[in-house]
Parts: sequence; C-alpha cells; structure tokens
Amino acid sequence: LLARVTDQRLIRTAGLIGGKWTEVSSDKSTFEVKNPATGAVIATLPRMRADETRAAIAAAHAVLPQWRATPARDRAAILRKWHDLILAHKADIAALMTAECGKPTAEALAEIAGGAASVDWFAGEAVRVAGDVLEPPSRDRRMVVIKQPVGVVGAITPWNFPMSMITRKVAPALAAGCTVVLKPAELTPLTAIALAELAERAGLPDGVLNLVMGDAPAIGHELVHSDTVRKIGFTGSTAVGKMLAAAAGAGVKRLSLELGGNAPVLVFEDADLELAARGIVASALRNAGQTCICANRVFVHTAVYDKLAEAVVGLVRKLKVGDGAEAGVTLGPLITPAALEKVTAHVNDAVAKGGKLLVGGARPEAGQLAGGAGAAGGNFFAPTVIGEATIEMRCFKEETFGPLIPLFRFSSDEEAVLLANTTEYGLAAYFYTRDLARAWRVAEELEFGMVGLNEVAITSEVAPFGGLKQSGLGREQSVYGIGEFLDIKYICMGLN
Ligand code: ADP
Repeated sequence: LLARVTDQRLIRTAGLIGGKWTEVSSDKSTFEVKNPATGAVIATLPRMRADETRAAIAAAHAVLPQWRATPARDRAAILRKWHDLILAHKADIAALMTAECGKPTAEALAEIAGGAASVDWFAGEAVRVAGDVLEPPSRDRRMVVIKQPVGVVGAITPWNFPMSMITRKVAPALAAGCTVVLKPAELTPLTAIALAELAERAGLPDGVLNLVMGDAPAIGHELVHSDTVRKIGFTGSTAVGKMLAAAAGAGVKRLSLELGGNAPVLVFEDADLELAARGIVASALRNAGQTCICANRVFVHTAVYDKLAEAVVGLVRKLKVGDGAEAGVTLGPLITPAALEKVTAHVNDAVAKGGKLLVGGARPEAGQLAGGAGAAGGNFFAPTVIGEATIEMRCFKEETFGPLIPLFRFSSDEEAVLLANTTEYGLAAYFYTRDLARAWRVAEELEFGMVGLNEVAITSEVAPFGGLKQSGLGREQSVYGIGEFLDIKYICMGLN
C-alpha cells in the first residue's frame, strides 16, 4: 500500500531530533504500525524513550533563542512554504494516513485541507501578535504589555486525526516563536513523519520541530517533568489527560487539553428532518465514529421520532464499508481490535437493556466489505442504529468512539437540554430547530464549548475549538489559539 506514495522520501522509519533523522532507538527496540483495514504491518519504527526525549528537549531549547528572535514575517514565510508543500503532497499524505488510521481517502484529503488551512492561518497570526500600552494611574510611569513565546512546547497527539491534531498545535507554537517536541500517536506516526520531512524542506531550522515516538508513558513523563518544557498541548483520552494535567500542575506548566466528548444532537419537533438526519449520520459516522466531536447521543422529540429514525436508517443503509483506500468506501475500519470490542459491548449493552436494533449491530461479513479478501482481517463494524435508547445504557454515559447511533426520545425543551447536559463532558453539541427564540435559548443553555445549530460541520481554522467541563482546557485554532503559546509580560517604566 505504501507503494502508492510517489515521493518515497516521505516514508521514513525514524524520529527527528535536532535535525537528525534517528532510525535506531537507544536500546534498539522497535514498534510496529499496522493497517487497521487489513491487520498488516506497514512499518517498523524505533521505540524511543526518555533518552531521546531528553535529547529532543535539549535540541528544542538550544535553538529557541534563534527561532524566537527570527522576525515573525520570516517565521510566517516558512509556515506558508510548509503549507504549500503539504498541499503539493496531499495525495501521498492521504495514502499514508489511510494506511495507518483507516479513514476513507476523501476524509483523509479533507483532514489534510483543514490541517493545511491551520498552518496558513497561523502564518497569518504570526505577524499580528501585538501588546498593549496601558493608561497609567499616574504620570510618573508608563505601563506596557508585551507578548513573548512561552518557550519549548511538548505536543502529544492522538491517532484519529493524524495530521490536523498536529498542525493545530505545532503551527501556532512555531508562529509564536516557540520550539516543539512532538510525540504523535504510535498508531499513526507515518503522517507525522511526512509532515516533519516537509517542514524541513520548507526551511524550518534544525531542532525547531522534533519528533519522538515509541514508549508513550516514558516520553510523556519526560515532557511533563522537564523544567525546560514550558507548555504541554495534549489531545487524547481523559484518563491520560488528567494524569498529564496533574504532573504539569506540579511543575506549574501551561497546559492545553482536548479530551473526550459525548456530543448530543437535539432534534426538535420543528426541525428540518432530512437536514437533521443527514447531519446526524455525517457527524456520528465521520472517521467511523472516532472523533471527539462525533454525535454520540441523539435526542429526538417524540412527535418526530419515527420519521427521523426512518430517515437516519435509510442513510445508514447506503454507506459502503471497507478499506478506506478503495474508491467509494464511506466507512472505514476502527483503529484497533480493542475499539471493536468497545463498540460491540455498547451495542450488546443497549440491546440487553431494551434498545431496538434498527440496522447493523455486528461485524460485517467479509463478502459485504469493499476491499477484497485482505479487508477480512480488518477491524470493521457495521454502522449501527439503536432505537428506544435510555439513560441507563453505556452509550448514554460513555463515548462509544465507533459507528453507533443511539436514538433517545424527549418531549420538552427542558428535558432535551437536561439530557444533553447530563455528562461530565462538554465539547460539542448540535441541535436542529427553525425557531429563533428556541435557537438562542438552547444554544446558551447547552454546556458545551462548541454548538452547531442546523449544522454539524463546525470545525474550522477560523473558529475556537475546545471544551467545557472535563472535555478540556484552552482553545485551539482561531484568533484565540496563538495566545496559548504566548506569555504576557507587563513592563512598568518609571519616569523619575
Ligand atoms: P486514545 O484513546 O485516543 O488513544 P490516548 O490518550 O491513549 O488516547 O492517546 C493520545 C496520545 O497520548 C497518544 O499520543 C498516546 O501515545 C499518548 N499517551 C498515552 N499514554 C500516555 C502517557 N502515559 N503519557 C503521555 N502520553 C501518553
């Protein structure tokens, strides 16, 4: 499959430390990357640990004075070059991404476009960092606020968006004048490696972006406990995020966290049901249900419940499951056998508690898969809709992170909002209504950092991405995103 990659220099089996591609880890151990659509091993990489992480932090620290002193325009120019190279190699990056994370090629290309847009956006932001001159309380002084890069950044990213979770951290960090040690997910390092290779070609100085991967706990431990690393940017599970937050807190490090979600969709009785059904299926099944803003719980007004359910099931039946690299496939595999087990457990739990299986519910037969015999070894699960779901079910309380759409009933606005907010998470929520007063009221009452009204495609480099409650801290993307990588310094000048 990797033979599809035309620029083979994008495929390296190495980390990047201080501008040197490091192909062998200090103890010579390795780890494997598998294609989730076939189970085949596609690459073997050095399993890096504390030694390499310390070296990467030192490299990032050594070049920091030079990089932060580089004029913002010049940093922006390198970011723009990186953006252009990413787009020029998008077919290759998509092939790598689909091979290691399973998402259909169309979704991979969409992620690459979004990730590249982040890089371009932060190239624009680099030159707009500005401070303030304050009105002093007395004439014997002047008071000024300047913004400076926080320093060395540790970025830890997940497998479900192998590129865009990187670009939304690395691009603002570089734009702000920070240097970075990046640890991508071990499940999807090949996309990260290709991005780092292109960043080098764009002219990023050695050590400004370093790449280590392998033993995640050991690397994470070094990053959060290092006094040199001044900020941690993390996207991933709530369990790991809380652990990193505790350790970063002990060292009073700056922290951005993007953790789990348990996104609700509310379909009110006046909604455009066709639009709602399309939105629910698109959101719930994007990346086979493996995004933190995927619709996880669908609440439908009882007056329109049957019609909405029928529309959703109709759309789900049209999906084509298989190897994401095959043309026309709209639903790829899950990332690991463990992910498959979790979806299976959620479906079985829902059915045992009285849920009505409307479509799907099991692993598809090999003959039903696009992608031929090879795909039979993959982690596929049929897209599933469960009706008459209840709050006792695991799929109400937990993020399923798989292709399951549970439909719950509600009969008043208050009940709908209460159900939606009954979760410790607060990342994204969606609702469908055409009533303006309800639209405002519900948007304000939903305890989520991002709300989609009659729209599920809410992610954009222009808009702040982040959660409330236990979904995280800080915001990525947008005009707010670069502030996460800048310290505010106040300078008081006495005129005596
Ligand atoms: P997911 O369920 O999305 O895989 P994880 O939190 O396990 O979520 O993974 C997100 C990122 O966190 C990955 O890069 C992973 O390797 C990393 N990670 C996992 N465990 C640790 C840890 N103990 N310390 C630091 N990073 C970790």
